[in-house]
Amino acid sequence: MRVPKERLVRKIVRVSGVVQGVGFRPFVALLASRYRLCGWVRNTSGTVEIEIEGSPEYVDTFVDSLLSEAPPLAQITSVSSLDADPIGYSHFEIRESTAEEGGRCVIPADIAVCEECLQEIADPKNRRFHYAFTNCTNCGPRYTIVRRVPYDRANTTMASFAMCTDCAAEYHSSHDRRFHAEPIACPQCGPRVWLENEGEIVESEPLRRAGELLFQGRIVAIKGLGGFHLACDARSDGVVRMLRSRKGRSAKPFAIMVRDIKEAERICELTPQARELLLSRQRPIVLARKKPSPGISEQVAPSNKNLGVMLPYTPLHVLLLEYSPAALVMTSGNLSEEPLVFTNSLAREKLAGLADAFLMHDRDIHIPCDDSVVRADYSEEPVLIRRARGYVPEAIQLPFESPEILAVGAEQKNTFCLAWEQQAVVSQHIGDLDTAETLDYFKYAVDHFLALFGRRPAIVAHDLHPAYMSSQYAKAMQVDTRVGVQHHHAHVAACLAENGCTDRCIGIALDGTGYGTEGTVWGGELLLADLKDFERVGRFAVVRMPGGEASIRDPCRMALAYLQSAYQDKCWDIANSLGIKFSELETRVIKRQLETGLNSPLTSSAGRLFDAVSAALGVCRERTYEGQPAAELEAAVDETEGGSYAGRLYYAEGLLNLDFTPIFRCAVEEFLSGTSVQTVAARFHNSLVDLLARACEDIRNRTRISTIALSGGVFQNAIITIKLSERLRASGFDVLMHRVLPPNDACISFGQAIVAASRHIIKG
Ligand code: ZN
Ligand code: ZN
Ligand code: FE
Repeated sequence: MRVPKERLVRKIVRVSGVVQGVGFRPFVALLASRYRLCGWVRNTSGTVEIEIEGSPEYVDTFVDSLLSEAPPLAQITSVSSLDADPIGYSHFEIRESTAEEGGRCVIPADIAVCEECLQEIADPKNRRFHYAFTNCTNCGPRYTIVRRVPYDRANTTMASFAMCTDCAAEYHSSHDRRFHAEPIACPQCGPRVWLENEGEIVESEPLRRAGELLFQGRIVAIKGLGGFHLACDARSDGVVRMLRSRKGRSAKPFAIMVRDIKEAERICELTPQARELLLSRQRPIVLARKKPSPGISEQVAPSNKNLGVMLPYTPLHVLLLEYSPAALVMTSGNLSEEPLVFTNSLAREKLAGLADAFLMHDRDIHIPCDDSVVRADYSEEPVLIRRARGYVPEAIQLPFESPEILAVGAEQKNTFCLAWEQQAVVSQHIGDLDTAETLDYFKYAVDHFLALFGRRPAIVAHDLHPAYMSSQYAKAMQVDTRVGVQHHHAHVAACLAENGCTDRCIGIALDGTGYGTEGTVWGGELLLADLKDFERVGRFAVVRMPGGEASIRDPCRMALAYLQSAYQDKCWDIANSLGIKFSELETRVIKRQLETGLNSPLTSSAGRLFDAVSAALGVCRERTYEGQPAAELEAAVDETEGGSYAGRLYYAEGLLNLDFTPIFRCAVEEFLSGTSVQTVAARFHNSLVDLLARACEDIRNRTRISTIALSGGVFQNAIITIKLSERLRASGFDVLMHRVLPPNDACISFGQAIVAASRHIIKG
């Protein structure tokens, strides 16, 4: 039943957002056939382009359905349609993609294996039975295998695998759920797995063999989706200890991968949000409360109430866990402080001393991507701790139109960010830029991003700290404009922009250390800030950092700085009764540093206060990883305790000072008189919340501003975050928290981009 020519209408439709690699073109073809419409669809660099022709009613319904019935993984940001003269197309087709200058490009994130694919690999009659690279339009690798745009097989690392006739038939059939699934593969034509064990290459049942090795207490390097993991039996103290000693990682918690949600539930208390996250298409590592004696080695996450758990997210992991212990330690395959290893050759070279065997495959990873980490042990909104696989490169919508900007981020937990038009894309977790390897990875990832999204930004935003490697990179870039952004302003601006807030607000930025504007080290800051500018209105009262960097590595030095502030000359006696000891030489040096300030800057850092309390109470006196003293102090808290100590607020140098010395003194005295660590740790947390809330009330009284943004690594602490936000809301504040980015320095690049954009906004 053909529509008469005079009744035909034709429309040219453009759909933007995450519309490539999510089954959008097959969906369009299906819609067209439902409404008996002709024309074509194709991917361009950033959008899906459609020409559609038929009767006017159906053409309109078709356009409406694009939005209302879009595939589950699509995220449409806009649909535009233009009328055009009818041509008289005879059928509907999917056309070859075109790359287009200047278009938007949105590559989808990697997606965990879907239910239908899982059923196929479990079905002995299916041709993909037990096939480790099974995927479809709704699941599988994306970001990590894309070399360039548009997102087509030829532009991915699957290009080297020629489709067999069966796969090709599925790929080209609009009725198949693998229609245009770019990484489509099967045992005939796709990637393969093998095991390398003591010089022997095992090609027959490598997954079963790897499982046996894991049962035998071996450490196996496993190539996954975004890089290598080091895996071992999470139930065995012996092998987890061995992994710790080989990796040179004495206490930092490991994540585990468990066979299924039942096993996760057996091991951890799962809040509804934790369950949902574990099963989500992003499949992050979820931090959840350990249950008593679940049979997991205490060595996995020592001195920690939580356990990082994830479910298998590729068929390879699903199959491996059928043959292996039901809970495996799965830690990033890297040398301490170096980036994730992601090529077979680098794995053999770098991981040789760490792993006993290698489970390899031949699907190349083009860009590595670590597992994401989300904290969900409380009923509040989950907090992202590390944003990478599954989330990157999803765009964040901006509350304004931005010029093209590259923001290079901070030094620790580095990410970088690219902003253009009305969106920003934040990179995956890169790491700490203090090794040459991580810096190389940073540069590789920046180049990849710029090419992938076809951007040549004329503006680069960076931290004010001149010694950050990211700042130096920005300095060396050939650009028109450089914008230095204060670290804590970037924190607050990121939080505001994520929440779509463009107003001036009170920003609380609490973290370890950040470069201030007047020579002191910042980190406990109260700002009046909007997206463009800020004014510092309050801070944690300053103490010395004896020995500068040395006091970051050694929390006992910070304990001494606070002891001196509380007890002056008597501080050494009190330190002694607390059991804090320094060598004779160190004692002499620190004494001098505290007296003269030599190499001992003043700091308002919140992180250093946590270090001091943690060390004073004997919770953590030896820091082996960043954030350890604070994390262990939080873990020590008795959550039923409601008491607190009184801090002091005073004005000096035009700033509201939050003086924690009286709080520190009370904590020490209660502890010395026999009150339990759990109680004192709780009271310290409560006191900090109380003093911050009082400070905010004071600022509100003077400014009439009642919106508060919370940012900084301290807000990884659930007790502080929950109690402070509850307290502030109860006293009438509007509280904004990070939703899409971590509160730690991973959000800095986005904040820098926001501030730079606000200062260079495109007119009109
Ligand atoms: Zn699937
Ligand atoms: Zn095939
Ligand atoms: Fe920070």
